[in-house]
Amino acid sequence: MKYIDSHCHPNSADLRNEAAAVFERARAAGVLKMGVIGGDLADSLEAVEMSRTYAEYGLFPVVGVHPHEARTMPDGVAPELMELAKLPEVRAWGEIGLDYYYDFSTREQQRSCFVAQLEAAKALGRTVVFHVRDAYDDFWELMTPERTPDNAVLHCFNGGEADAKRALDLGWKIGFTGMITFKSAQTLRDIAAKLPLESLLCETDSPYMTPVPFRGTRNEPCNVPLVYRKIAEIKDIGLDEAAEQIWRNNMEFWGFEDN
Ligand SMILES: [Zn+2]
Repeated sequence: MKYIDSHCHPNSADLRNEAAAVFERARAAGVLKMGVIGGDLADSLEAVEMSRTYAEYGLFPVVGVHPHEARTMPDGVAPELMELAKLPEVRAWGEIGLDYYYDFSTREQQRSCFVAQLEAAKALGRTVVFHVRDAYDDFWELMTPERTPDNAVLHCFNGGEADAKRALDLGWKIGFTGMITFKSAQTLRDIAAKLPLESLLCETDSPYMTPVPFRGTRNEPCNVPLVYRKIAEIKDIGLDEAAEQIWRNNMEFWGFEDN
């Protein structure tokens, strides 16, 4: 079985010091590609560098400024980020969005940082990775037609059914993390059950969102098969069927040649 972890942070303080071991464990678990996601400028640069250094593990970089870090980029898109976003190996712009659960940056900072990146991504015709938490009203309000990307994913989805439907209508994907294995996440499982398998991506968001039964420990890309397993269970299909379809979803979404 081969898997892709569509969204992880091996470029984070928790994982970077043992990156090689993390990638070895991923490979041993059948995780043959990993999306390395940026959170701020330094982190995005590291995503690019790490993807080059460890190219043999199938890493691909995504660059952007997370809503938590919006305060670090108050004056529109930094030229350095723009340069990174133009690199041919960079597969998408992200993660960007709004997080009103933590409010680590003010909502005003989050909105302006989000819109600036959204418009820049649109100008470059980039795929976008969205992070939205407790903020879908503002998210959709800011998503005017001229800012709407053709290709995007609602990563670590925990919105409502209407949000998922709206994303599908736009041709976007829905990304599920280990959250879908949590006992408390029945509503999320009910939503996933109604979504076409062709619209789903599976991710760890490691080092966060550790799936059951490892919840409470540090997460790693090697745990992503547990998310695929839960999706297969929800859809009442075999794990191989789920993994094959989600592999194809990823090939198309990130623009990889299938192999
Ligand atoms: Zn993330």
